[in-house]
Amino acid sequence: MLVVQKYGGSSVADPERIHRVARRVIECKEAGNDVVVVVSAMGDTTDDLIDLVKKITDKPSDREYDMLLSTGEQVSIALLAMAIHSYGHQVISLTGPQAGIKTNEVYNKAKITNIRPQRLQAELAKGQIVVVAGFQGINENDDITTLGRGGSDTTAVALAAALKADVCEIFTDVDGVYTTDPRMVPQAQKLDSISYDEMLELASLGALVLQPRAVEFAKHYNVLLHVRSSFNHNEGTIVKGVDQVEKERVVSGIAHDLNVAKIALFDVPDQPGIASKVFKVLADANVNVDMIVQSTMRNDSNDISFTCPHDDLKKAIEAMEEITKTIGAKGFSYDEEVAKVSIVGAGMVSNPGVAAKMFEALADEDVNIEMIATSEIKVSCIIKASQVKLAVLALHNKFELEKLGSSVKS
Ligand code: ASP
Ligand code: MG
Repeated sequence: MLVVQKYGGSSVADPERIHRVARRVIECKEAGNDVVVVVSAMGDTTDDLIDLVKKITDKPSDREYDMLLSTGEQVSIALLAMAIHSYGHQVISLTGPQAGIKTNEVYNKAKITNIRPQRLQAELAKGQIVVVAGFQGINENDDITTLGRGGSDTTAVALAAALKADVCEIFTDVDGVYTTDPRMVPQAQKLDSISYDEMLELASLGALVLQPRAVEFAKHYNVLLHVRSSFNHNEGTIVKGVDQVEKERVVSGIAHDLNVAKIALFDVPDQPGIASKVFKVLADANVNVDMIVQSTMRNDSNDISFTCPHDDLKKAIEAMEEITKTIGAKGFSYDEEVAKVSIVGAGMVSNPGVAAKMFEALADEDVNIEMIATSEIKVSCIIKASQVKLAVLALHNKFELEKLGSSVKS
């Protein structure tokens, strides 16, 4: 088998853990597999590098920012390779560029456009374990790019797809994918399996086990994912195409996201082309717009509200200052103290009344709903950030998710 393993920052946070990862990689190799290992930067290294930037300037060049951030992973691949070597195994570390990971031009959140796996394949053919730096690639100008926070997951899945690996194991500090954040709700249950679509929703909605783009990639190339703990040998959660289990579960998980800001534009003229102008400036500023609500018309004008990641708020505000003038809107306001809670489940489409049940659970706790968005497999509500824990707990109880672990395990 060809196995791609990915170890996150907490799994390689110190020398002892790096040795533990080395032994686990070797275990996989000795079982007769070809092994490619993707690692993140040690512990909080990436955050520390970002803090360092802030001490230098608040307007860093995007190119230099990526140049700096990519160094974290370079430290961990070298150390892991040394550790594996110390146990007498053949190993080589490669940076993203050396591993043939090509990206587009967008610094800080570059997208992988192509992988040239020849070097990797040649090293594997020599019997080497290959350790690849996550989170980085190289653009057409031969400059280093990074793939957005949590991007090592995407590196791993993309390599698994390019190499046609049998499985991509994502090692993390939790046992798998839970019905909700176990640190917030102790009754949260580990799911044995989950569909790509459900995982995608949970990942995008702030259940931070996997980078959403990694799940999109996995779905697109049908890469079997196994999310599991690097601290024990328990079976984790398999992420794969939808099957009967997921269809029978109405709600599989509750996600919450505190990295949300809400922006409202007032008295926007009610004419064709206005929304397109508003969201064009946001797109040009690389702001990821999430929920959008347009109120009903009064006196030939509308209010348009939307949410974006908190990290994008500064850029969004700049864009709004520009656009309010161009389109003749009255003004805008923003709220940083909001959060998103969502219920996710592939069985939702075929079960009426799920949204109503969600709103009831929130109402019972006096949680005010500021915005609502739905898709076939999720319902999301924007609420006050201070009420997030209360809301998640209420929803977990309402949908009886504490029973899910045992009913799913056969
Ligand atoms: N080191 C990067 C980050 O902290 C990438 C990753 O961990 O996946 O976001
Ligand atoms: Mg990470």
